[in-house]
Amino acid sequence: MSISFSEDQEHAQITTAAVLPEDSTEGSLRPRTIQEYIGQEKAKDNLQVFINAAKMRKEPLDHVLLHGPPGLGKTTLAGVIAHEMNVNMRITSGPAIEKPGDLVALLTNLSEGDILFVDEIHRLNRAYEEILYPAMEDFAIDIIIGKGPSANAIHLDLPRFTLIGATTRSGQLTAPLRDRFGVTLRLELYTPEELQQIVERTAEILHVDIEPDGSYEIASRSRGTPRIANRLLKRVRDYAQVRADGVITKAVADAALVSLEVDRCGLDALDRRMMRSIMEYYGGGPVGLDTLAATINEDAVTLEDVYEPYLLQNGFLTRTPRGRCVTRKAYEHLGMLFPGNEQLEF
Ligand code: ADP
Repeated sequence: MSISFSEDQEHAQITTAAVLPEDSTEGSLRPRTIQEYIGQEKAKDNLQVFINAAKMRKEPLDHVLLHGPPGLGKTTLAGVIAHEMNVNMRITSGPAIEKPGDLVALLTNLSEGDILFVDEIHRLNRAYEEILYPAMEDFAIDIIIGKGPSANAIHLDLPRFTLIGATTRSGQLTAPLRDRFGVTLRLELYTPEELQQIVERTAEILHVDIEPDGSYEIASRSRGTPRIANRLLKRVRDYAQVRADGVITKAVADAALVSLEVDRCGLDALDRRMMRSIMEYYGGGPVGLDTLAATINEDAVTLEDVYEPYLLQNGFLTRTPRGRCVTRKAYEHLGMLFPGNEQLEF
């Protein structure tokens, strides 16, 4: 069976915060030091205090939980922490740990002070979480070898390490795991000004000629997300090379983004389809997330993790106990009549 994407879906993917194959060069764009890491001032301030304190005590940093929507720089920040603490970082993810032995192997291979970064930690098998509790608290694990009466419990001491967990849904973490993180940092969507700095930094690394108006145009249409800003920059660069003289001006950025169906507010075809469905089929809402997802043939988790945060933050959508509602701003953005505005005719 072959699945073909409509043009709409293909374009909609450009502004997804999830990792796409074209982001494979992300590594080279990652800032390494806390100075290079743009934005997230509150998280950085807190972190700087913890890092300095740990360094003064000559101890590993307390375990850190980073949460926020995808593409905001959680992996990058973990790398920055490793750099600032001058230690090695090992990277894994919740779903990659398929059996308890995987986790034990990771833990026992760490060196003193190392960082273990577990992306999507909310997807770690609950049964294996219990290995983490004593590992995080006492830097030790108990493994049972063998079965039945001949089974032997072995106590293994681990080096003192720092676990950095990243999650898009901290609510899905079990309380015992959440409680074992000494530091919890929430990453926020970036302002257009911060994203502009990120776009300009990336443009410099990639040797792209860009004017300040051009970088601001891309920044303000990137859903508050660095991963999207970098991706759009690369697409606009291609457009500038082929259709213009290679320089990204405001006009070139606008034309490129229009051709990618990214509108002035950074909304893509899927955002618009989602909002229009709530208006057309559910009278503006409320409608439950699963019903909405089924209506537009999308995955509910993707809608909630990737699409909603930006629509909520920018006042296009509200979340009520009975479901999602679109706002007057959403109606106006799509050029539709807000139901409350209808005049009674006599
Ligand atoms: P997450 O782990 O939250 O999904 P990443 O850390 O992989 O996000 O970040 C995605 C990309 O965005 C990185 O490759 C990096 O280039 C860029 N990026 C993220 N945060 C920043 C930042 N604060 N400053 C500069 N670039 C950033």
